[in-house]
Amino acid sequence: MTRVEQLAAHVDALCRQHRIDFIHRNTTHGTAMKRRRTIYTPPVTTELRYAIALHEIGHIVGKGRGSGTRVEQEAAAWRYVLETSIVELSQSTYLRMLKWLGSYLRKPVEGVGNWKLPAERSEFWTTYRLIRERAGGNMIRGRSFFVDHR
Ligand SMILES: [Zn+2]
Repeated sequence: MTRVEQLAAHVDALCRQHRIDFIHRNTTHGTAMKRRRTIYTPPVTTELRYAIALHEIGHIVGKGRGSGTRVEQEAAAWRYVLETSIVELSQSTYLRMLKWLGSYLRKPVEGVGNWKLPAERSEFWTTYRLIRERAGGNMIRGRSFFVDHR
């Protein structure tokens, strides 16, 4: 089995274990329907798609899935990726995760919908810092997705 086949097999195993339907959808994003226990993501043909699939599974079974604000629930689903991945993810995957986390933060800043900025003590920031560290720490500058919260 190649590395990516192992990743795909892991997603399939998790879906069986948690009785989640995995429907392949060719987009750059995924969706989770909690009540239907169904995730819609692209087939796991890359490490990034593996992370996306784990993230959607995290929305259904991960810790903190039903509590907190939308931003916090997104972070909790990424936290599930960190805790569940069977491989060390690459820096570029962490960068994408960081970019997505940053985009959730822009919504409350720009007043989109009812998104709220996480409180200072929120688990959100723990996850955000973990991912930022793995994406290259604070060495990368000039990226719009770095939100300096303090
Ligand atoms: Zn999500």
